[in-house]
Amino acid sequence: MVSASSVVWRDSPDYEEARIGRVFNNRRPDRYPRGVVQPTTAAGVADAVKLANQLGLRVSVRSGGHSWAAWSVRDDALLIDLGELKYLELNEASGTLKVSPSTTGRVLNEYLGLKGKMFAGGFLLQGGMGWNCKNWGWACEKTLAVEVVTANGDIRLCSKDENCDLFWAARGAGPGFPAIVTAFHLEVRNSFSNIMKSTFIWPLEQYKTVLDWTINIAPKCDDSVEVVCVSLRPDPTKEPVILSGFVTFQNSEDDAIASLKLANETHPPGAIMTAMCTPSSLSVEYEAQKLANPEGHRYTSDNVYISNDADAAEVLREAFTTLPEGTKTFALWYSMNPCSRRELPDMALSMQSDHYFALYTVWEDGKDDERCTSWVKKVMKDVEQHSVGAYLGDSDFQVRRTRFWEDAKAEKLMQLRQKWDPRGTVCGFLDQGDKSGVNGLENKHEWRT
Ligand SMILES: Cc1cc2nc3c(=O)[nH]c(=O)nc-3n(C[C@H](O)[C@H](O)[C@H](O)COP(=O)(O)OP(=O)(O)OC[C@H]3O[C@@H](n4cnc5c(N)ncnc54)[C@H](O)[C@@H]3O)c2cc1C
Repeated sequence: MVSASSVVWRDSPDYEEARIGRVFNNRRPDRYPRGVVQPTTAAGVADAVKLANQLGLRVSVRSGGHSWAAWSVRDDALLIDLGELKYLELNEASGTLKVSPSTTGRVLNEYLGLKGKMFAGGFLLQGGMGWNCKNWGWACEKTLAVEVVTANGDIRLCSKDENCDLFWAARGAGPGFPAIVTAFHLEVRNSFSNIMKSTFIWPLEQYKTVLDWTINIAPKCDDSVEVVCVSLRPDPTKEPVILSGFVTFQNSEDDAIASLKLANETHPPGAIMTAMCTPSSLSVEYEAQKLANPEGHRYTSDNVYISNDADAAEVLREAFTTLPEGTKTFALWYSMNPCSRRELPDMALSMQSDHYFALYTVWEDGKDDERCTSWVKKVMKDVEQHSVGAYLGDSDFQVRRTRFWEDAKAEKLMQLRQKWDPRGTVCGFLDQGDKSGVNGLENKHEWRT
């Protein structure tokens, strides 16, 4: 039971920890909720929403605390932190999983791995760019149903058969979802016994050759292979290098080796490091991700889907070759082809292209905030002119406004927001000044206006 006495109010000594203790980005927001509540059940979430409605407050939601721009931290709202709402239930007969929203991909896959299963991962409300997304599709396509608490505190199940418009929105609305998800019902897949990878690193001077080659062979690799190209500094004091990585998910060593053959045999000469057919595992890959995104650091991210007809390597030259000195920043190109070429199921998520590009700017000292954030803005100003839109998950609507959905889907989503939350109880998209409210986002390329 959640009531006013279970709220950590602003004058409590526990308030600051409750406000930002679970926020991943160490660049802390200057925004202050009225109070924070940590329900342990869906009924507790419903109580919290009703309490907020009685007090005339908006509610903001935190699941994993991993949004780069700390979207959960909103001025004068009641922050509902779902960190203590925990369950993970696999129905082995049907291969379906019920999971609470704060469960990270890593925890999920550690649990599933023991049962010979896996889930692609990625944050589901915004789509979820999980493992091998280019071939297996968006993680949200594996959402079978969501349990929600609505803006007036009702508990509902949403699936293709009931409350289907909310179910439609739950796959692509991201932080504009007009209710609170308390459980995802997911379809899981069998895990793979042979995860293997080939990694190549070149001096940055070979940037264009390497990215062109990676873009060219990505769709020719078989459907077990995830492909990425990254520029990074091996250490903040060192010069950047360019890396191409190929990870295959297979069930025999021979199949894994065969899947990596194309990359191994055709990679451009001049690499300063090659590691071909290295055995890997999901935990090794999560560990590598953790090293690339260290805790306790300051972050800003931005991203675009580059138009399929652009010369992506030329468009990304500045982004890949001018990484800010003394930082752990990396620029990433992630292949989405061939999934980007297929028609998506009917759901809110509707933006994609062959080329996903994201900048993850990573630094430690607040004195570098201005230098790092203005570098991202400068780079994106040119890159965005070649984009079709962006992914919600790596975006910050306070900084850059663009397209996130096809026009008709954006329109439908904003109408659903008004239908399910006409008073704007659930904090939606955090734009500049937190003004968008029930209207949501405009879904326009600001650079065109
Ligand atoms: C280290 C790191 C790695 C990442 N890797 C990936 C990746 O591989 N793939 C990918 O797709 N993204 C990735 N992201 C992006 C990340 O998934 C998104 O930023 C996402 O929003 C984080 O989800 P969260 O629940 O942790 O966010 P939170 O900060 O907890 O929530 C963000 C907002 O989402 C909405 N929201 C969250 N939970 C709910 C809910 N239960 N009901 C209704 N609304 C809710 C709310 O508006 C909330 O304010 C990564 C981010 C980080 C920091």
